[in-house]
This record gives sequence, structure tokens and C-alpha cells, in this order.
Amino acid sequence: MALNSQGRPSQPGTAEASALPTISGDRGLDHEEPLIFELGRDGKCGVDFPDVKVGDTHLGGLRRKGKIGLPGLSEPEVVRHYVRLSRNNYSIDAGLYPLGSCTMKHNPRLNEKLARLPGFADLHPLAPQSAAQGALALMSELARWLTTMTGMPAVTMSPKAGAHGELCGILTIRAAIEAKGEKRTRVLIPESAHGTNPATAAFAGFTVDEVKATPEGRVDMDSLRSKIGPDVAAFMLTNPNTCGLFERDIVEIAKLIHEAGAYFYADGANFNAIAGRVKPGDLGVDAMHINLHKTFSTPHGGGGPGAGPVVLSERLRPFAPLPLLVLEKGGIRLIEDRDSAPEGYKPFGRMAAFHGQMGMFVRALSYMLSHGGNGIRQASEDAVLAANYVLASLKDVMSAPFEGPCMHEALFDDTWLHDTGVTTLDFAKAMIDEGYHPMTMYFPLVVHGAMLIEPTESESKESLDRFIAVLRGMAEEVKAGKTERFEGAPRLAPRRRLDETAASRKPVLKYQAAE
Ligand SMILES: *Cc1c(COP(=O)(O)O)cnc(C)c1O
Repeated sequence: MALNSQGRPSQPGTAEASALPTISGDRGLDHEEPLIFELGRDGKCGVDFPDVKVGDTHLGGLRRKGKIGLPGLSEPEVVRHYVRLSRNNYSIDAGLYPLGSCTMKHNPRLNEKLARLPGFADLHPLAPQSAAQGALALMSELARWLTTMTGMPAVTMSPKAGAHGELCGILTIRAAIEAKGEKRTRVLIPESAHGTNPATAAFAGFTVDEVKATPEGRVDMDSLRSKIGPDVAAFMLTNPNTCGLFERDIVEIAKLIHEAGAYFYADGANFNAIAGRVKPGDLGVDAMHINLHKTFSTPHGGGGPGAGPVVLSERLRPFAPLPLLVLEKGGIRLIEDRDSAPEGYKPFGRMAAFHGQMGMFVRALSYMLSHGGNGIRQASEDAVLAANYVLASLKDVMSAPFEGPCMHEALFDDTWLHDTGVTTLDFAKAMIDEGYHPMTMYFPLVVHGAMLIEPTESESKESLDRFIAVLRGMAEEVKAGKTERFEGAPRLAPRRRLDETAASRKPVLKYQAAE
């Protein structure tokens, strides 16, 4: 396929780009939209500026002589461009988004309305604390919900994503270890873990040691026992784990970790399965990030914004990063420097400028208050029910690697695709032709050709039935040997199969005008 200077297929409307070539390159209401730089023309502008006489500018020889390089477009052209681009987005507002481990749930509009309240939206991060008491009160109320729900005594709010929260938690643990004058260099991580876990541990200077999984998809206790030792800093565990299974031995795991003098980090990305039902504090967790953009419905995708507050145990609380939120008689105080920290606190530093993602805080608290404790519990139960419905409805045609019910996500492997010529990738890409976003593929790595489906509580039974019917239909076609449509799928999308590896290894991030 010919690629233009931006690495995109250059000839829309060719047989490769489209099952039905059109003269315009558009396909019905799907427009083939060039980059804004390709659309723009020199000298065009959305507004009429008065002619200015350029006199002496004080810039001497530094005055710009070349073109400024911005695209010139009229207002309707700009509006059309972005509206057309927005139509190429798949979003939770457009359809079921089965991406496992991502908790793509509905973003209630009430949250959006509250996040736009000028008192929150227009507040400047450098406003004096006396003028920001409402925002600080909101943060402190959100903190109260998070600590109550997790059964943990403290929370640090500033991390801006799950992975950022992991780093915050591990740095807190590192600070606690250093304060004790100990030398602990290893972090244990199960082989089913999300890639951010080992990345975080390595980034914080630890070596990563992998703990094996049992054939049932859970932590292998013998493997854990054989790895634990006085040089272990922490064990990082997701519960429910990335196979969608609850780690039943978690209390025993916490005991083992603590007896070795290490800390128990829980990856809370899957909290949606247990929120309102299980308190990680009761399980012996020392630190856990919470993805507000997953469990608490703030929008995500495309890299953010997110928010990853970290709840901490009593042992780790003193090392939490700045800023600290302190409730005092006269109001709420935000402590921004080490010297003002209360007695006993030794913050390890700070994770981010300012206080965190305020817009996400407002949305998350809005979600919590509108659901109430019971509503959050109901949401978790419905999410688990929906995933089990998908698992039970498809496991006779697709293969499930583990016995028994799942938590909030249904995991399939590619055993059922053996000798069909169709791969997990082909099957997932063919879902795009059916109007669905693919599920998470090839993760977790412990399962061959994994397909991880997380419907969340947002989907109605009708929506799940339709999704199940489509996947069943596709699976039955594969089994009947009708596999052409899977080869090189998607066929009906604006782009066919892209070289995603090349796109991420050699991203073209800068526009270069054609010669
Ligand atoms: C999403 C996720 C993360 C990372 O969270 P981000 O907000 O994307 O940085 C970590 N662990 C698991 C299990 C996840 O699903």
C-alpha cells in the first residue's frame, strides 16, 4: 500500500482502502479526511485582520522571513475538519467497548455538568488557598470516600494515571525502606501482571522477579514462597487479577509478604469488580492506586487525562508525597513543602506540579455521590454479572482457559482457533467490520492468544445479547471454514489492517510538507 509523507495510505478510494471504490474516496457518511496541514492554503484565514504596516520591530535581523507554517482555513472548513475527525472515533458513547482491563464504562452526563461549574473549572492552580476552600473540600471529601471504600487510613491524590500511581506507591515504599536503613532490591510480580507493574518497579530502581501462576490462573504460592526473602521490597498484585479471577489466597499472601518485612502493593485497576464489597485494607494491602478514570467513570482513552490516587497503610502514610491535605479548625490546608509537614511526616518528594486532576476529582465524586455506597456496590455486582453472562454464553463456541465463574472480565484463549487459519488478531479485527471495538488481545500473556472482554455494568441485557450473538455468529463462521472475511480484516473500516508495531516504534509525529 502506498503511504504518503505522513505514513498514511495515500490513495483513498483505491481497492485497498475500500471494498467499494468511490470517486471521492468517501464512503457514504464516512469521510476521508486529510490532515489539517494538507487542507490549509496560504493566505486563507478565518477572520479579517486589518492591514498592518510593518515598521521597525526591535527584532532587527531576527524578523521572520519564511512562512509561519500554520494551516490557513476558513471557519466552516475548520469546523468540518474536526467534526469529521470526531466521527472517526469509536467511543463509549458510540457503542459497547469490550476492552478488558480498561473498564470502559458510561461517563454520566451529570459528572460533566458538575465538572464544568465555573467555581471548579475556572479555578487557577495558583489561587490562594483561602480562595480555593471549596475545591480543597471536594478533594478532602473524595479522599474520605476513597479511604472509606478501601478501608485504608490515608490517600495521596496527585498521581495522574494508574501507572503514575504505581510509581507513587513504589516510591513511597522505597522511602519507607530507606528510612528503616534497610537494603531491599527485589520486587516480586506475578507473570500475569499488567506491563506497567514491572516497568514501575524497574523505573524505581528495583529488579523484577516473576512469580509463577497456577494452572488455575492464580498466584502459585509455592513459587511465591520460594522467592520471598529479606531482600524483597514489595510484591505487586492485581486483585481480581488480569485473568479476571479473584486471588483467593490474598490474606495468606499478605501475611507472607509482611513476615518477610516487605510491602504489599495492590494494583487497583480492577477495583470495579469489588468496590463496595471488599476493602483492600482488610486484606493487608499497604498501597494501592485507584484509576478514577476506570472505576469511577471519568472519561479515558487517548492517554488521558486520568487520575490515580494512591491509598496507603499506616506504615506508609508518613512517606506520602506532597502536597498533603490537612483538615484544620479554620478550614483545609494544603501543605506544599517538607518543612511545613506535620510531626512525623517525611514526604519523599512530589509526583506532579499542583494537586492532581481537579476535573477528574469532580467527576469521580459526582459519580460516588449520585450512586451512594449501595449504588457502587450494585455497579460492581452488575459488572461481574455481565462478564459472567458473556463467559457463559460463549464458552461453548470459544475456549475459556480457566474453570469456573469470573469476576468483571471474561477471558478466552485461542485453543478454539487451532487449525482454522484464523488468529486472535484476525478475529478481533473482524469485530471492527461488525461495528464493535475489539476486546483486549494477547493480554494477559499467561494465556495463549488471549481475548479479554470487560463489558462493565453499563450494558443492558439487550446490548449484551446482541454482542454475544455477533461473536457467536463469527465463531460459527470460523468453525464452518468460512474464513475469508477474517483474512486482512477489517474490510469495511476507513483503514485496513495497519502496521501497529511500526506505528509505535517509528511514529511520525511531525508534519512535513510535500516537496
Ligand atoms: C489500566 C491499568 C493500569 C494502568 O493504568 P493507567 O491509568 O492506564 O496508567 C495498570 N494496571 C492494570 C491492571 C490496568 O488495567
